[in-house]
Amino acid sequence: MRIWPLKKQAQLVEKVKSYDPQVNEALITKAYDYSEQAHSDQTRASGDPYFMHPLKVAEILTEMHLDTNTIITGLLHDTVEDTLSTIEEIEENFGKEIAQLVDGVTKLSRIELPTESIREAENFRKFLLAMSNDIRVLLVKLADRLHNMRTLHHITAPEKRRRIALETMEIYAPLAERIGMRKMKDELEDIAFREINPEAYSSINQRLTYLKKKGGNLSKSIAAKIKRLLKKNGIKAQVFGREKTPYSIWMKMERNHLGFEQLSDVIAFRVIIEKVEDCYVALGIIHKTWSMVPGTFDDYISTPKRNGYQSIHTAIIGPDSYRVEIQIRTEKMHEISERGVAAHWSYKQGASEKDGTQYKWLQELLEILELATTPEEFLEHTKLEMFQDQVFCFTPKGDLIPLPRGSTVVDFAYAVHTAVGDTCVGAKVNGRHVPLRHQLENGDRVEILRSKAQHPSPRWEGFVITGKARSAIKRYVRKQANAEFGELGKTILQRAFRQENLEFSEKAITQALPRLDVGKLEDVYIEVGKGVLADRAAMELIFPGMDFKHTRKKGGPKLWAEKPSDPDAAISIKGLTPGVAVHLADCCHPLPGDRIVGLLEKNKGVITHTIDCETLENLIGDEDSWVDLSWLSQGEKPGIFAGRVSLVVVNEAGVLGNIATVVAKHNANISNLKIVDRDPDFFTMLVDIEVRNVKQLTDIITAMRTLSVVSTATRIRG
Ligand code: MN
Repeated sequence: MRIWPLKKQAQLVEKVKSYDPQVNEALITKAYDYSEQAHSDQTRASGDPYFMHPLKVAEILTEMHLDTNTIITGLLHDTVEDTLSTIEEIEENFGKEIAQLVDGVTKLSRIELPTESIREAENFRKFLLAMSNDIRVLLVKLADRLHNMRTLHHITAPEKRRRIALETMEIYAPLAERIGMRKMKDELEDIAFREINPEAYSSINQRLTYLKKKGGNLSKSIAAKIKRLLKKNGIKAQVFGREKTPYSIWMKMERNHLGFEQLSDVIAFRVIIEKVEDCYVALGIIHKTWSMVPGTFDDYISTPKRNGYQSIHTAIIGPDSYRVEIQIRTEKMHEISERGVAAHWSYKQGASEKDGTQYKWLQELLEILELATTPEEFLEHTKLEMFQDQVFCFTPKGDLIPLPRGSTVVDFAYAVHTAVGDTCVGAKVNGRHVPLRHQLENGDRVEILRSKAQHPSPRWEGFVITGKARSAIKRYVRKQANAEFGELGKTILQRAFRQENLEFSEKAITQALPRLDVGKLEDVYIEVGKGVLADRAAMELIFPGMDFKHTRKKGGPKLWAEKPSDPDAAISIKGLTPGVAVHLADCCHPLPGDRIVGLLEKNKGVITHTIDCETLENLIGDEDSWVDLSWLSQGEKPGIFAGRVSLVVVNEAGVLGNIATVVAKHNANISNLKIVDRDPDFFTMLVDIEVRNVKQLTDIITAMRTLSVVSTATRIRG
């Protein structure tokens, strides 16, 4: 059923045609019919047929002089969200570009903005921009919002009206301003203001009406006087009286703590001139004729505002001693100030049509954005690369967290709170489990999973990219490292005391602090633990002149545990965390259950090797650096270690699957796999397997050997 006569359809096409001769009439007509049909069983809050809304949105877009595809997007913008239409269907009927635009608007509409106070408004504005990868998406969204604001009074629930008005005030009006669309911004703000502060709105409005009545033709007569004066001096100009909106007056009153009567620029004029040079000539004539109000002159022609706005501003004591504000600009400057990015677009349309319009659109938007920031905002997001390099993610409560592109779950957690970062173990992104190193995308909803047992790990430093995460991890690791170096150093000193049959005495060490050249006891332990201060040197300073009987046994002391601790027990090396003050050597990959020795390396702490590691052979004489180590059960969650296995397997299909199955059956993980040699019959490969201890690795190797496809399987070190 057709609700409106064909006339409406023809009118829309005519409007586009008036500024764009290239208009695709048939396609607009098709979109008109399609949308009308799709929305046919819906109505608006006003009781109007729903199709009225997309039609009005399309009309607003024609006022911005936008291209055929944008007008069609306006017509179709609610079909995917609110009717049975799909993006695929839109693409089939209207092509890829329109489908992408409609999809963009649909996505923007699905973003839930926070309901209460919009404290993160700036971030939401950025987020909307980041999501609108084609500026036309944003323009359609703004037109959509404008029409919804124009019909706001039809919504009966006051809270809903207020929420929409607040959102408009905080998010959409500033967005319109950011892309230079002053006219749209003014209207959005004014309607929102009326809703949010009805008393102020009506009192200002009454004053304005009163003044207009009282002034009668004042505005007209002043405009005529200015025009005549300029004409007499050979300058052709259009002069318009400019009515201020209640909201702009309200803001000015607030900003300058002025009463309504003190506002000088309730009467304002716009002087539109053909040539730029004549703007200055006109200014001279006006200033010569009437006196200028000091401090009101601004030349935004020679120094445009950051959003590209150009105009000369001045205020004079004008005809009949009225203080009036005057803006002088050219036609083009005027159009840009009214329509912002849309005007830029129509000026450049011809030039950029052929060569990758999409990208240019974005580029242009970002350039304007960059220019549009106020000095205060400037520091916050200076460069457009920074802006493009951001992703915007949500907490489960809907708070928005802006992050640099490439940020991981851990970066997000630290951005929320340091305590959240310190204890994060994983996350759900859009409901799906992801590991800590997972990189986030625009619009992701991130729920951080936490555990009290978790601590920041030095490994995280390898993938986090935000300064906050990095410094928090570093701080924790440094603190932790000092604690562990201290503990290690104390153990080493206790051993040294024992070897000399001395009772361990912190008092003795404390008294020796000046000789040790260290400030406090803990620092002595740390220095010894780090290997900066050798234990024997420390003993000689603690007990000066003492004759130390016990020298180290040649060939290295007995450095490993007499009997290996229970290989199945969860392990830790004397309570120290691997990776901080104790490191597991890369050459031999010690596993819990292996017999181990420690080598103290300066500033690194202890490097743990298996007792049969070849590396040790060269170091056997350097006995000062040997440390007694054993695996100790901690009763905590088992640690995970990497064991390396060399495999020679038959070259046939399914081999890797067989091996993976064996590993999985033993509740272990393959962390890395490298094929080192490959010939027609056999593969040789190195497999790193994450295990809890030696026994688990041995079991896996044994199981692998039973496979018919496995020729050999051996644990290797290095
Ligand atoms: Mn809509």
